[in-house]
Amino acid sequence: MILKKDIEEILNDYDKEKIVICTIGSHTALQIAKGARDENFSNLLLCVQKSEKFYNQFDIVDDVMRINSYEEILDEEIQDMLIERNSILIPHGSFVEYVGSKNIIDKLKVPMHGNRLVLEWESDRKKEREWFEKSKLRVPREFKSPDEIDSIAIVKFPGARGGGNYFIVKNEDEFYEKIGKINLPKEIKERYTIQEYVIGTRFYPHFFYSALDDRVELLGMDIRYESNVDGISRIPAVIQNEIQIEPSYVITGNIPVVMRESLLPELMEIARNLINSSKKLFRPGLIGPFCVELVLTDDLEFVCFEISARIVAGTNLFINGSPYSSLIYNEPMSMGRRICRDIRIAIKSQRLDEIIY
Ligand code: AMP
Repeated sequence: MILKKDIEEILNDYDKEKIVICTIGSHTALQIAKGARDENFSNLLLCVQKSEKFYNQFDIVDDVMRINSYEEILDEEIQDMLIERNSILIPHGSFVEYVGSKNIIDKLKVPMHGNRLVLEWESDRKKEREWFEKSKLRVPREFKSPDEIDSIAIVKFPGARGGGNYFIVKNEDEFYEKIGKINLPKEIKERYTIQEYVIGTRFYPHFFYSALDDRVELLGMDIRYESNVDGISRIPAVIQNEIQIEPSYVITGNIPVVMRESLLPELMEIARNLINSSKKLFRPGLIGPFCVELVLTDDLEFVCFEISARIVAGTNLFINGSPYSSLIYNEPMSMGRRICRDIRIAIKSQRLDEIIY
């Protein structure tokens, strides 16, 4: 395991005038590159062959470095080069998915924005649930085994797989019938979670926790556009019944949304509770961007079913700021830019070690 003090030692030798903001070319890389540019940092994207040309065409991208595979970022030689260039890594969804939270914690010695220990908590459903419960949030019921299913349930598999292979069941028989048809490696298939399917409206609020001044900011909100479930409603119910389409939950895009203003105080309380309990569960707790995935029921109850403790792709809607960010900032403040602003403020006040691990 790479300890925080190891990272601090590396950071101590950095030339703070020449910090480079670095991430993998995917997910929210353009937003992060623009955020770096807006905050007067240079940026570097690590790209595999198929994305190199795409990222190279943007003027806001200063430098693209070709890697053969995403895991290559763990190679000693590449890590040393990144450290030599005074790089600070920004983890995003694809970064965590491709490199793996365990590899990041055990092998990656390049300084990273935020507290990398959070990745263990967001990627393990048991730990995530413990975090939610400690934060006193309402969560969907979980069925420990298929014979407990007594309402509509969603079956999920581990990893940030963008909802791939999830399915809906009503009872035990249907569970076994459907899981038999799922094409996933055995070790992943066996680690399913069966969760009550919560009916209501979904919201994916984007928060930033500024550890430097102990403040939670709401910077935007989206709804995930998922295929094919969001397309099914366009087919009349009678035809749906005839052709028996199974809903799937693969993320294909994001739609902006705002929440009833009277619900925002409770939403902010949820975010604050998550921060407070994170400080107890994995010191110094969550730092920087996070998103709580939730359903609001018709009795206006928030049910939280997932947390992403890093920048989420829905923030790409707000590269020019959002209705919420413009209440806090008089300039276009994307999440990518907010992360870079955090680094800029920390450098100026010589507190970089407080927001990097
Ligand atoms: P997740 O991988 O947990 O983000 O789930 C992917 C998608 O499945 C979500 O964006 C929702 O549309 C749907 N989903 C997940 N869990 C639930 C739940 N407990 N109730 C209703 N919908 C859910």
